[in-house]
Amino acid sequence: MDTAEFRRRGKEMVDYIADYLENIEGRQVYPDVVPGYLRNLIPDAAPEHPEAYEEIVKDIERVIMPGVTHWQSPYFYAYFPTGSSFPAMLADMLSGAIGCIGFSWAASPACTELETVMLDWLGKMLNLPEEFLAGTEGQGGGVIQSTASEATLVALLAARAKILKRLQAENPGLAEPEILSKLVAYSSDQAHCSVERAGLIGGVKMKKIPSDTKFSVGGEALRKVIEEDKAAGLIPFYCCATLGTTPSCAFDNIMEIGPICNSENMWMHIDAAYAGSSFICPEFRHLLNGVEFADSFNFNPHKWLLINFDCSAMWVKKRSEIIGAFKMDPLYLQHDHQESGLVTDYRSLPLKTHLSLCQDRQEGMAP
Ligand SMILES: *Cc1c(COP(=O)(O)O)cnc(C)c1O
Repeated sequence: MDTAEFRRRGKEMVDYIADYLENIEGRQVYPDVVPGYLRNLIPDAAPEHPEAYEEIVKDIERVIMPGVTHWQSPYFYAYFPTGSSFPAMLADMLSGAIGCIGFSWAASPACTELETVMLDWLGKMLNLPEEFLAGTEGQGGGVIQSTASEATLVALLAARAKILKRLQAENPGLAEPEILSKLVAYSSDQAHCSVERAGLIGGVKMKKIPSDTKFSVGGEALRKVIEEDKAAGLIPFYCCATLGTTPSCAFDNIMEIGPICNSENMWMHIDAAYAGSSFICPEFRHLLNGVEFADSFNFNPHKWLLINFDCSAMWVKKRSEIIGAFKMDPLYLQHDHQESGLVTDYRSLPLKTHLSLCQDRQEGMAP
């Protein structure tokens, strides 16, 4: 496809998309297909000879659409709403065209700078405490993760690194496996399953705190479990509170949980994946009161803010706790500005260095 054809096909695709969304209520929201339906509609292997573009495009209606669940349909009530909008689609098109990988400031400065500033904007819209903003001199700041599950895990891994460092500094003889075997993290029994999974991936115990009759976890319930665990020789180090639980949109009492986490030197993460967008409205902002006690906070603009999947916004009070704990600095990624304190190299976030094996930011929405 040359530039001239791209101009033509691009306009056709925009028309197809506009028609699709304009008439989406006419489509059956959930497909009738059976597992394996698609394999029978296309050849067993890639064709030896190229097919005409028109023929391939016909496959959208013949092969793909019959198996699509139309999440943007007004009749879609499953799971949760996921945002999408024309400006977001156009932005995706542009970032596809720029096609850069912004793992460090130097790899494409506008990526890092735009991400940092946009997360400050979004943080200000939520009226997050100043400590969560990067500004020009702040210690905190935001980062785009793919999902809330990832944010919970990143926070847990940072908390784990922080407590390991602290305990080993206090008791140089203490071996890492011994500490790890005693670490315990907490969440509500109503928390999203990704919180439990973060414990599994992080190799630490994750305990569910019983919620009350309103499906909310309060300070008393948390304190009781902490006291029992400390008496049994365990080391509480992390608590994930939920604002807007998946089963019932319940809110944990972060005004009570927060001070306990702070006094116990535990990392407090707040998962507000879908309810978080509502805190932009002044009339709902009080539901976020207590965020000042948290070390990290997350919500998903892709759920309720008309942004295409995936875009999960995470803020931390101390960037250094996340970056420092997982820093990898291979020669091929070093650049002149990294020690200046003026730029964040997002590749230093744990998920991007640890789990994706230095394939930094290969996922994640380009800002
Ligand atoms: C949707 C949701 C999640 C999972 O979000 P992902 O971005 O898909 O990982 C986690 N927690 C809560 C409270 C949610 O509503």
